[in-house]
Amino acid sequence: MHRENQTESPSPLSVCDSVPVNLSLVVPVYNEAESIDLFVDRIRQLFEEEKAVSLEVVFVNDGSNDNTLDILLACQKAHLFVKIVDLSRNFGKEAALTAGLHFAEGEVVVPIDVDLQDPPELVLDMLAKWREGYEVVLARRSNRESDTWAKRTSANLFYRIHNSISDTKLPENVGDFRLMDRKVVNALLELPEAHRFMKGLFAWVGFRTCHVDYVRSPRVAGATKFNGWKLWNFAMEGVTSFSTYLLRIWTYLGALISFVAFLFAIFIIMRVFIQGVDVPGYASLMVAVTFFGGLQLIGIGILGEYLGRTYIESKRRPPFVVRQVYKTKE
Ligand code: UDP
Ligand code: MG
Repeated sequence: MHRENQTESPSPLSVCDSVPVNLSLVVPVYNEAESIDLFVDRIRQLFEEEKAVSLEVVFVNDGSNDNTLDILLACQKAHLFVKIVDLSRNFGKEAALTAGLHFAEGEVVVPIDVDLQDPPELVLDMLAKWREGYEVVLARRSNRESDTWAKRTSANLFYRIHNSISDTKLPENVGDFRLMDRKVVNALLELPEAHRFMKGLFAWVGFRTCHVDYVRSPRVAGATKFNGWKLWNFAMEGVTSFSTYLLRIWTYLGALISFVAFLFAIFIIMRVFIQGVDVPGYASLMVAVTFFGGLQLIGIGILGEYLGRTYIESKRRPPFVVRQVYKTKE
């Protein structure tokens, strides 16, 4: 595994390495019966020797319809560090993460996937960075070889478009796997929106940030929960949550087209004066009608995207509903 620092700032790590820290891992799970035991085993082995780390693992059961909850409850019997937040139905990963952040009590919080694609060992490197004084430590994928070609290209395109039209720039090749100081988590929890595009919100709150690099492994068990259509909606969510560019573009496009139409009108009038009236032009008329019809529908569609989101947001529903929280320690 290759790791490197963004900002070089030398510090005597060994001195403060033993300062005790309360760490919360936040793990959203949706139909992950096969992965949970593997994940918990790896975490237990890793943190057994870390005497300075007081660990809590907050599993958020995002409305699984397999026996994920039973497995979690069995895990909790065996391990004191397991906390379970059982949501009333599937609310999606973003909402599940929000729920986890809500119930995490640590002074340092790390969201992590249960499928071991995010290597837990990296959390120790992140903690070292946190001890140097960083408030956010991003885990950045040094390559995307474990992804399919389609996913790599669409992800690249998404980042390029999002970052060129939005004021909140998303760091590339960075997912939800990151360390956050309590200050950062509190700032996130204060954001009132119900539609939560977490990557964007993480970036929006800011704070002193650095990164560590890692190689993302394939899923340890089970299958991905994100298909093409879900990813497309996720991308729309990102773009509409952090930029009004797509709404505003129509004003300028409309102005440009009106201007061209005005010039064209002058041209036609002049031609009537010079050459008299004639009726050819069926093809060009049809092209213009269909082209502008399409353009208008796209414009209305984009209005609809934003209006729909505003409508949902105006209901002020909470992003998730909790059925029950299972704790071992008070
Ligand atoms: N997940 C969730 N709710 C959902 C979908 C996914 O809590 O509706 C969890 C899932 O159990 C996993 C994490 O989010 O722990 C990442 O999901 P996945 O591995 O399917 O995403 P990928 O790594 O393929 O992007
Ligand atoms: Mg995964």
